[in-house]
Amino acid sequence: MATKTLMASCLCKTVQFTVTVPTECFPLKVHLCQCSICRYTHGSPCSFHAPLPSGVEPQFIAPSGPNKLTSYRHPASKATGYFCSTCGCQIGGVDGQWVISPAIFDANREDEGIWKFNAHMLPNSAADGGLAAVFSVIDGHRMETENLGLSPQAIAGSDSQPPDAESKELLAQCHCGGVSFTIARPSQKFVASPLSKGWTSPLDKTKWLATMDLCDDCRLVTGTHVISWMFVSLDHITPHLPNDLLIGSAKGYRSSKGVLRVFCGTCGATVFYHYDGRPEIVDVAMGILRAPEGAMAENWSVWRAGRPSWPENGMRYHAGFSRALTEGMQRWGAERGHPQDFEIA
Ligand SMILES: [Zn+2]
Ligand SMILES: [Zn+2]
Ligand SMILES: [Zn+2]
Repeated sequence: MATKTLMASCLCKTVQFTVTVPTECFPLKVHLCQCSICRYTHGSPCSFHAPLPSGVEPQFIAPSGPNKLTSYRHPASKATGYFCSTCGCQIGGVDGQWVISPAIFDANREDEGIWKFNAHMLPNSAADGGLAAVFSVIDGHRMETENLGLSPQAIAGSDSQPPDAESKELLAQCHCGGVSFTIARPSQKFVASPLSKGWTSPLDKTKWLATMDLCDDCRLVTGTHVISWMFVSLDHITPHLPNDLLIGSAKGYRSSKGVLRVFCGTCGATVFYHYDGRPEIVDVAMGILRAPEGAMAENWSVWRAGRPSWPENGMRYHAGFSRALTEGMQRWGAERGHPQDFEIA
């Protein structure tokens, strides 16, 4: 039987493995899941998952091995997820068979016919539909939408804490609840200060800036093709964060000079990106936000709709997806009053 071997690695390269797949099983179907478990465990707008054929499992490349992974299982989910214990990259999970994150297969990014983006799963889980409301066609192929017959309430029943629509602060919390904090709106003092230059929108100074990000490092630290960030002044976060940003179950990973990435050591959710060159601002992973209006948190954010960050990385990795996301965001933003462009300081 003819097979093809695919190679995967997280950002820190502690986790490296191959999967060997019968060629007749290609393309592997990829679904984007908008459910709250996926958002709150990844920190991304959704998970990107591809079920492996029955019996196919990751084969770790020494010195990597299963002992480099942390497992996480929530009672409401049948699956056990696994992430890199060092950098937090979500590599996939097991629910009888393996489901893997196609975003970490850098070596096979350009191979035609390996992956097929097939469906948006559980968009009803997000009140605004999340990315399912942004695009539905990739490379001319229309994605299916599958809610599995579940109501939004049934899906949300898995949340450890339901969002509070009356709250004056925005709750950010990973799935296990080990990392939890709130975000206030930009204060008048902040808006009036020089520090706010480039970090608030003239369109609406009561909201924070937000963008989609296609950067390679973010992809390999989340295990998802895209992450969304909200740029928040650190003094608007409660409780006050220590210099290393580590609260609760958070772990840190320095991915490059001056860059600190923070994830939950228990459930693996990406939480923060911080750069020493702009110490007062922290990028908050929007997948852990508990905004009642939905995954795009529009009551709290002004989106740069016209272009994602690091588009050249996204186009190199997966042109079809990056084009669908970019064009989808342009249309979505125009319909909903978000600016097409601004500089992020
Ligand atoms: Zn899900
Ligand atoms: Zn890693
Ligand atoms: Zn957690």
